[in-house]
Amino acid sequence: MNRFASFLLTAALAAPAPAALAAPPAPDTKPSAAPTVVQPFKDAGLWYGVFGGSICSWLDSGDGVFLIDTASSAADAKSLKAEIARTTKNKPVKWIAMTHLHADSNDGLAAFFPSDATVFVNARGAAILADFAARVKGPAPNVIGVGDKVLLGAGKLRLEIGAAPAAAHTDSDLFVFDSVTRTVFVGDLVTPDRCPMLSDPASDLKGWILALDRLDALKPAGLVATRGNPTSNAAPELARTRLYLTNMLQFLIDQKKKNAPEARVTGELSIEKLGDYCPRELSAINALSVYRRMLPDGSTVPRALPKK
Ligand SMILES: [Zn+2]
Repeated sequence: MNRFASFLLTAALAAPAPAALAAPPAPDTKPSAAPTVVQPFKDAGLWYGVFGGSICSWLDSGDGVFLIDTASSAADAKSLKAEIARTTKNKPVKWIAMTHLHADSNDGLAAFFPSDATVFVNARGAAILADFAARVKGPAPNVIGVGDKVLLGAGKLRLEIGAAPAAAHTDSDLFVFDSVTRTVFVGDLVTPDRCPMLSDPASDLKGWILALDRLDALKPAGLVATRGNPTSNAAPELARTRLYLTNMLQFLIDQKKKNAPEARVTGELSIEKLGDYCPRELSAINALSVYRRMLPDGSTVPRALPKK
C-alpha cells in the first residue's frame, strides 16, 4: 500500500471569481463525514485528512500551525480545527495557504477568523481575500498575494509557497512545497487517479502546463492534492497530468484549425486517446469548456461571468 495512504467567501465576491464560489453554498449543518487523519512521516509534524469535499493538510512549526486549505463548509472547518488542535496540542493556526478559491477547497475559511493569521493566496486572487479580510470583525487576517514565490522559514518549517504563473485549473492556483519532507501540496493542479477539471471559467491548458513545469522543477517526492489519493511518488502523477493536458491541447488546436463545430469536436473526441484516467463524458465537458474560449494558438479568454 502506498505510504501516504461559509461566513462564506461568497459574501466577499465583489470581483469576478470562479463560478463555484459565486454559487450559493451548500447547507453546512454537519460535517460530511468523520475525517481520517494521516501522519505520513513518523518524525515530521505533517498531517492531512479529508474534510468534506477535499483534503486539507497542516504542518507544525513548533509554536504554530501552517494550514493548507480550509475545507468545504463551516461544519467541516470546525471538524478540521478540532483535528488540528488534537494533533498539535492546541497550537494556533498562524498561516493559511489557499491552493485556489473553489468552494469545495476553501468555503470553510471564515471559521478560522477572527484571527491575525497570515493568508497566502495567488496574487490574482488577493483582492477577493482583501475584501474578505475587511469584513472580519475583530482581529483580521494579513493577506499576502504571491506573485511568484515566497520562502517561509518559521521554527521547523522550510516552505516554498509558489503561484502558478498563469491561469491553470483556475486563475489563482497556488502550491506549497515542504523542503523537509519534499512533499508538494498542489490543490487541484494534479489530482491522482481523478480527471483534471478544466470547466472553471478561467481554466487554461497552456497555463496549466506552465504550472506543471514549476512543480516538476521542485523535484518533489510526495504529492498531496485536494482530490485524489496522496502519493509518495509524485513524478508519475505529474507526468500523467501533463500527458492528458498536452494531448487535449493539441487535439483542440487541431479542431480549431478546422473550425470544427462543437458537435464534431465531441464526436472526434470519442476516438481520441487523451489519457487513461478520464471518463469520456468528463473529457467532453473539459474539451467543450476550453474549446468555446480558445483562440487559434491554443490560449483562451476567460468566460464572462453572469452579471449579478
Ligand atoms: Zn478546484
